[in-house]
Amino acid sequence: MRAAVLETQPGELVIDEITLTKPDADEVLIQTVACGLCHSDLHMIDGHLPSPLPAVLGHEAAGIVQAVGDDVTEFEPGDRVVSCLSMFCGNCRECGVGNTWLCENRQALGKRTDGSSRLWRGDVEVNQMTGLGAFAEEMLVHRNAIVQVPDELPLELGALLGCAVITGVGSVVNGARVRPGSTVAVIGCGGVGLNIVQGAAIAGAGRIIAVDLNAEKLALATTFGATDVVNGSDTDAVAAVRELTGGGVDAAFEAIGLPATAQQAFSMIRPGRTAYLVGLPAMGADIELPGTVMLLQGRGLQGLFMGSNNFKRDIPMLANLYLQGRLKLDELVAAKIDLEQVNEGYAAMRTGTEARSVIVF
Ligand SMILES: [Zn+2]
Ligand SMILES: [Zn+2]
Repeated sequence: MRAAVLETQPGELVIDEITLTKPDADEVLIQTVACGLCHSDLHMIDGHLPSPLPAVLGHEAAGIVQAVGDDVTEFEPGDRVVSCLSMFCGNCRECGVGNTWLCENRQALGKRTDGSSRLWRGDVEVNQMTGLGAFAEEMLVHRNAIVQVPDELPLELGALLGCAVITGVGSVVNGARVRPGSTVAVIGCGGVGLNIVQGAAIAGAGRIIAVDLNAEKLALATTFGATDVVNGSDTDAVAAVRELTGGGVDAAFEAIGLPATAQQAFSMIRPGRTAYLVGLPAMGADIELPGTVMLLQGRGLQGLFMGSNNFKRDIPMLANLYLQGRLKLDELVAAKIDLEQVNEGYAAMRTGTEARSVIVF
């Protein structure tokens, strides 16, 4: 099957033939229908996050079950599924207390039971990024890396539920537990940021302030539920948010992954509140915060990984919200592209104007 392979860091993706192993007892073979282009993969492509190479990237996918391993009883061929990189074992301490997104065995589930790769190019092992490797016509994954979704959900939209949407909405409802009427600021209105905005709207936030440097993205954020917008390119974003809210917001979300914007989020919250780091920083990026302010004003900064999800619960919930017209997905997709256009898709992302490109197989 064809897949987009990263051979060097930094590098471009190369379309090549990859072979999959036969499904192990706990594995499911999926025909990939769609995969979104996520900014985290761009970190890999640009070499900001080291990775064993060669590697097949892509982790925001949906597809149709082709075959299942001997022990898999919950899926059968023909099932429509969405993948999530928050795969979990179900047996470790974190899984046991319900924190499946923190599963201690997640890395191991990205490989075969014997520790070898599921992906091969000739006799060379190929790294299956995040245990999914979804820039590929087929995916072979652990049974706890996918969840079934309703037939009515278009899979090219369903793919987005597995990363951008669950990360954004999950950060609001699972992580920050935003309450009705509270005030929220969102820094960065790309795929994840827009979903923080609509998550805050779903949670009933009273004021949702979108912050970005790009006027188009801010206009889009308004359609996703932002009540106010702040363009940081022509104004001091922290001062603007504090003024709009009479002293700061109840929750500020950073959806870019930059130390400078994490500091801004920290400065936008009221005393006693928490700012949330949702965007993935480059490896080695440290965030400096004023310790005195943190202590005397009881402020916090917390990282939220993948929307603190339990995706087997959250993705069907999100699918249902979409089918009821309460969650926007169509508006997130800026372009549908072929696998061969993956590098162009990332070039568009670098310019920072589009919401999301989705590969449709
Ligand atoms: Zn992602
Ligand atoms: Zn676990």
